[in-house]
Amino acid sequence: MTHEKKHRIIGIIGVLFLATVLLLNVVLVNNAAKRELARKEAELAALSPDAVSLKGTGKGIDGDVVVQIIADAEHIYDVQILQQNETQGIGSVAVEQLPGEIVKNNSILVDGITGATVTSNAIKTAIREALASGGFDPAVFEVELAAAAPVEKTDETLECDVLVVGAGGAGLTAAVRANQEGADVLVIEKMPMVGGNSNRAEGGMNAAGTKLEEELGLLDPSLGELQSTVENYIADTYRLGHDLANMDLVRTLAENSSEAIDWLGSIGAPFTDVEPTGGCKGRKYLHQPEGGEPVGEYLVTRLSKVIADQGIEVMLNTKATELIVEDGQVVGVKAEDKEHNYTIRANAVVLATGGFGANFELMSSYDPSLANAVTTNHSGATGDGIMMAQAIGADTVDMEQIQLHPTVIQENGLLVSESLRSKGAIIVNTEGKRFVNDLAARDVVSQAELKQPDGYCYIVFDQALVDGLSLAQKFIDRGFAISGATYEELGKNIGLSDEAVKNFVATMEKWNEDVKNGEDTEWGRESLDYDLTTAPFYAIKIAPGIHHTMGGIKIDTEAQVIDTDGNVIPGLFAAGETTGGIHGGNRVGGNAVCDFVVFGRIAGANAAAFAAEGVLAAAA
Ligand code: FAD
Repeated sequence: MTHEKKHRIIGIIGVLFLATVLLLNVVLVNNAAKRELARKEAELAALSPDAVSLKGTGKGIDGDVVVQIIADAEHIYDVQILQQNETQGIGSVAVEQLPGEIVKNNSILVDGITGATVTSNAIKTAIREALASGGFDPAVFEVELAAAAPVEKTDETLECDVLVVGAGGAGLTAAVRANQEGADVLVIEKMPMVGGNSNRAEGGMNAAGTKLEEELGLLDPSLGELQSTVENYIADTYRLGHDLANMDLVRTLAENSSEAIDWLGSIGAPFTDVEPTGGCKGRKYLHQPEGGEPVGEYLVTRLSKVIADQGIEVMLNTKATELIVEDGQVVGVKAEDKEHNYTIRANAVVLATGGFGANFELMSSYDPSLANAVTTNHSGATGDGIMMAQAIGADTVDMEQIQLHPTVIQENGLLVSESLRSKGAIIVNTEGKRFVNDLAARDVVSQAELKQPDGYCYIVFDQALVDGLSLAQKFIDRGFAISGATYEELGKNIGLSDEAVKNFVATMEKWNEDVKNGEDTEWGRESLDYDLTTAPFYAIKIAPGIHHTMGGIKIDTEAQVIDTDGNVIPGLFAAGETTGGIHGGNRVGGNAVCDFVVFGRIAGANAAAFAAEGVLAAAA
């Protein structure tokens, strides 16, 4: 019998065997089931006398990944994932695809799923553990795979009205919007999954003058300077970007933000909560989904559903390599996957390829100190769209403006979202003291952290915050938050010196007193809505990490790409982090999601109108 046949039969038998074992765990074990089990065991033993069912565990992005395998010393016949809580659209792709690849190749050394490294490694670790627990040598399954025979790629030509390059938040938004305007839309995405950096956004989406803010009384003139008005939002965005942004783009962002929130509601993605935005003097622009659900996953999931419902094709694992220009107009792109070289002809192209926060070569050409920094970005954030646009004469702006986020776990680049601070968390140093307005602009907090002893700090919160913000619970589940029943115990558990523990207790008591009195007497933080008095208390070790690339392709307020002579490049639109000019020298937390929805909508509507009539949409 061939290995493949034997393997298929044993795989089927293995599944039946596991199902039978489960049955036996039920209280009423009957004789028929016992006989069935004995029969399956006998069949399994006849095919592979040593094949056994084994369990192993690996650490995923969100808790344990538990696998059950059927294997003997030479073959892995079956891999089932018994338990996992990996990110939908990222880790879930590895959960779906990797077990089959490992069984097919009888090797753990198959390539992990690009963009889902942590989950891929967790599955592999769990399989190694399972093999070892059965007395089998995992090294037998660690042999390098023979290099695949080179594939002769075939040429293929595709056509559409609007081609969207990149399936992150900006691309998905533009695709939905262009399709709503009647365009035949095609989306290409180089990764094995949609979502890009957008899928990682946890905090929220800024917007001003929204219906929700009105309902919550945040537009009440009696609030004076605290009002969440469009004018305040423009002023905050421009000021926090160090007056470097393009004011026309900032105004477009702010003036369209409320309508963007309404539009998201209309496609099944409403917001229910509004919190203060970091650096904005306590003003509340940060819109969040119910229960503090991570905003990126929330929006990508819902946009993807609309994409599927509207029948828009998304080609994964398909990378755009260059723009096609004829008579000064962009008429498509060249792209490739493992088997094809594509020429995709389109009446309009939207570049939505994201930033370059994972392209260390490019970033360190602007700031050499970033060469060894950690990044919060997904591995596909390499600036492809910027380079493709530059190659046909597009201009760029603010490329040297690269943002460090102050609350990044250094071991893995995981971001501790700003929403923890918006909901009341504070930052202390290793002396147990606060040293900055914790909700100041990101660059201010990051620079203050870099001056602290030991080069790292702690973000501190309490159980009440966890109860109101589901994403905070994840850090506890993942093992990144250290806890203590009292401030003193927490201080000791995170390894502070005796003196620092005393400082820490005093810091916490002072903070709670200031919250009660409504004034941060030490560092002038404006938003003091929540004290930290509900035990247990938590701390996560953090330091600054690369987070956002503010610079990129130059666009106008219609999302048209501008060339180095200041002229529009006909047929080419861009939106999201691939563009520059909206955030100036510092991106405000919550503004990138607003950016991708607002400019994604404008780019989509204008690309559809341009594709149909050669003109722009009357109103995006
Ligand atoms: P992306 O979402 O990165 O999408 C770009 C897509 O293009 C990717 O899928 C990429 O693979 C694809 N692509 C790239 N090159 C090619 C190519 N050559 N061919 C085909 N496809 C290609 N902002 C907020 O406002 N609020 C937050 O709470 C927030 N939290 C964040 C948390 C984290 C951890 C990170 C990393 C960012 C966060 N941001 C937040 C920033 C925000 O998520 C991003 O700036 C924004 O989502 C970018 O959207 P985008 O669509 O432009 O790019």
